[in-house]
Amino acid sequence: MYHKPMISAFLSILMLLACASTAFAGKYTTVVIDPGHGGRDRGAKWGGVSEAYLNLKVAKKVEALLKAKKIPVRLTRRSDVYLTLAQRAAVANRYKDAIFVSIHFNAHNNTSIKGVETFYASAKGKRIAANIQSRVSRHTKTRNRGIKYGMGFAVLNQTKCPAVLVECGFISNPYERRRCAQSWYQSLAARGIVEGIIKSR
Ligand SMILES: [Zn+2]
Repeated sequence: MYHKPMISAFLSILMLLACASTAFAGKYTTVVIDPGHGGRDRGAKWGGVSEAYLNLKVAKKVEALLKAKKIPVRLTRRSDVYLTLAQRAAVANRYKDAIFVSIHFNAHNNTSIKGVETFYASAKGKRIAANIQSRVSRHTKTRNRGIKYGMGFAVLNQTKCPAVLVECGFISNPYERRRCAQSWYQSLAARGIVEGIIKSR
């Protein structure tokens, strides 16, 4: 059977192609972006800066970047409306293979605290959190506060898919608040989130 090596070589190539396409297709099909708070829930509010507003600004930038990469994306809210945490998780739970990224800004009574941190509640979420955290802290050049286990967050424990919650900066810190309120900072945070999402594919 002189052609046997050729057949096995052909099969090897087919298997390689199959693996490559699986890797390319990734482990999720839809990215659900959740801008935290909204409507009567303003989230953190410091020095005239509202977290709910910043969350939506970053979320829309993330959406635009993902669309440019042809990655299906869905926002839990597109305007200043109130959603319960269960409603937010329910959006993600409509999809079979989604990942869920909730976007927030942080605040603390100790106004010297600054930096970004990302929460997760599962092993898969932990990997996405690590990728998002490293990219966001790198781009925004603020303190990397690391990734943290956050099972207490309803949006993390009510979502069936891998879910993370990223805190893009402390608006209670005057220096960081001025940065967070700027469009360029929001763009850098969005870029970091998108790079982390893509790296997690
Ligand atoms: Zn928040």
